[in-house]
Amino acid sequence: MNPGKKPNEHPYDVIIMGGGPAGLSAAIYASRAGMRTLVLDKNPDAGALSYAERIENYPGFPDSVSGPYLLSLFDKQARTLGAEIVQQQVMGVNFKTPLKEVMTPDNTYSARTVIIATGSMGRNPTIPGEKKFLGKGVSYCATCDAPFFRDRHVALYGEFKNIVHELEHIRNFAEKVYLITPEKELGSRQNKVVDGVRKVSLLTDSNIKKIIGDEVVKGIIIDDGKGNEISIDVSGVFIFIHGRMPVVDYLFHAVETNKDGCVKVNKADMSTSSKGVYAAGDVTCSQTRQVILAVAEGCMAALSAQRFTQ
Ligand SMILES: Cc1cc2nc3c(=O)[nH]c(=O)nc-3n(C[C@H](O)[C@H](O)[C@H](O)COP(=O)(O)OP(=O)(O)OC[C@H]3O[C@@H](n4cnc5c(N)ncnc54)[C@H](O)[C@@H]3O)c2cc1C
Repeated sequence: MNPGKKPNEHPYDVIIMGGGPAGLSAAIYASRAGMRTLVLDKNPDAGALSYAERIENYPGFPDSVSGPYLLSLFDKQARTLGAEIVQQQVMGVNFKTPLKEVMTPDNTYSARTVIIATGSMGRNPTIPGEKKFLGKGVSYCATCDAPFFRDRHVALYGEFKNIVHELEHIRNFAEKVYLITPEKELGSRQNKVVDGVRKVSLLTDSNIKKIIGDEVVKGIIIDDGKGNEISIDVSGVFIFIHGRMPVVDYLFHAVETNKDGCVKVNKADMSTSSKGVYAAGDVTCSQTRQVILAVAEGCMAALSAQRFTQ
């Protein structure tokens, strides 16, 4: 986050955090209603829909549709209707002032209303040492924390499509980057992305077993998939293995959540405990997590935001 940056001079009517089905459906309704609409999305490859190879139950696609393709259609429709979609990770919010603020590493944006739609692909720490060293070398956000690892050795751990996306943020700072992925084999196109790239070592079929250190991270133990445990000295470990937890870390309790971290909403209008702030999709932990429900909740949240601004 760059605290020196001032909020945009021209506030948006609505900022939507998350560009999955819930966020993009909200963007379609909001922009079509003439609202000045901004969508901030961390990475289109990181949401639940991007993992769905085949969707057979979303109406309008009798021959099924791939999740990423369906997402690209939502994205296109939102842009066509005038929504601004920016690939940036939200790192903090301020809902205390009438003009709400949303912080990313590059900017602070302001808006009259906000919609939370960051899904539920968040993680519960499971690797020994992960929780202990969170914020002390362990991070879930390369754009946020990469500069802390200037001239250091770091590990990026997760699915290749996600870690390679984060690589561009970290490469400018770290001296050496280990890309560690459980995937056994990568396609030739994927391999090409990192082949011979200076400072980068790729370790496939590998998993981090333990993160070690004292006050801060000093290294990791990995399982190399052949039964060997290998110790690697690193100062930073960026983890991009997904779980099933609502993604709310960047909210810092700005809205009420239940004991599982799900954003509490009034299902009649998708309003949260903070006035002018709405939530939609998997982040609200509906009993059934489906695209059609996320899309419906996004629509309701946008219509409520529109009413709020009138
Ligand atoms: C493997 C799999 C198969 C599935 N199959 C089906 C199916 O067949 N049919 C069906 O209806 N549903 C299916 N689902 C469920 C469906 O994909 C989800 O219910 C739906 O995608 C939820 O939408 P969402 O917008 O709430 O969240 P997501 O789709 O998870 O989108 C959240 C977005 O928020 C972004 N984000 C997260 N944190 C931040 C941040 N800090 N700043 C900015 N952006 C952020 C993410 O990058 C992501 O783009 C499947 C899910 C999975 C995982």
